[in-house]
Amino acid sequence: MARIISISNQKGGVGKTTTAINLAAALARSGHATLLVDLDPQGNASSCLGMPKEKAGNGTAEALLGFEPIAHCIVPSLDGLDLCPANAALVGTEVEMANMNNRERRLNVALDGLPSKYAYVILDLPPSLGLITLNALVASDGVVIPLQSEYYALEGITDLVHTINAVRRSHNPRLVRDGIVMTLHDARVRLCREVEAQAREVFGAEVFHTVIPRAVRLAEAPSFQKTIFGFDPGCRAAAAYQALAGELVTRVAHARNRADSARSAG
Ligand code: ADP
Ligand code: MG
Repeated sequence: MARIISISNQKGGVGKTTTAINLAAALARSGHATLLVDLDPQGNASSCLGMPKEKAGNGTAEALLGFEPIAHCIVPSLDGLDLCPANAALVGTEVEMANMNNRERRLNVALDGLPSKYAYVILDLPPSLGLITLNALVASDGVVIPLQSEYYALEGITDLVHTINAVRRSHNPRLVRDGIVMTLHDARVRLCREVEAQAREVFGAEVFHTVIPRAVRLAEAPSFQKTIFGFDPGCRAAAAYQALAGELVTRVAHARNRADSARSAG
């Protein structure tokens, strides 16, 4: 069974898309069949992977609206990754979904038709807590929260944590936080070190040991339509995303074991 993971933070510019792409690529490179689903109408993840909105055929819009089985919306992408792209139609999808039956479960239903080969499905989310994000959280097993090392970052995720808790209570009891990843981190900057320390104090072991450095290479790679592994596989940002994938795989295995023993105990 695929582990479905939302990369979520309602703030823009915190490294969601960069994390979704490079984490998904790192998983694929480690031999885990991985699908990246671009749920942001801006389509940044798709264009970073060389599939801009104008070029994309069927994508997440058709899958969400039930016009096409999701298997017909997936294209092979870089580094062995598969992509369900955002096309231009995704801009209007949230409005169209608003009047549909089961409007918060559209993605759930779409992903039920996913080929069984996938070990990981990574969802890149828009910077909002709207209906698309709700669909993603309802369909997910876990959430990875990118946290930019800056002032007010922790205050910003309080809303997200409340939203995750509300979705768990109302729609999706299996939803957990898979972890918080510090992004755009510059260890030379005192504020970054302070925010990291504060995050570890508040969220403890939930914060991944791996920290994603602020690295020009990560910002440059998309303009060459490459992941960090295609662009500069030897750089420290590539090593960081590979290490993050390793930590995530271990956490997911532990979460599964806990769920299995809870089931057999009760
Ligand atoms: P979001 O999806 O949360 O809006 P992005 O991943 O698109 O955030 O990142 C916002 C901008 O910051 C992009 O231009 C991206 O290339 C850049 N960026 C993201 N992570 C890093 C990083 N670790 N180092 C340098 N630039 C980064
Ligand atoms: Mg984004």
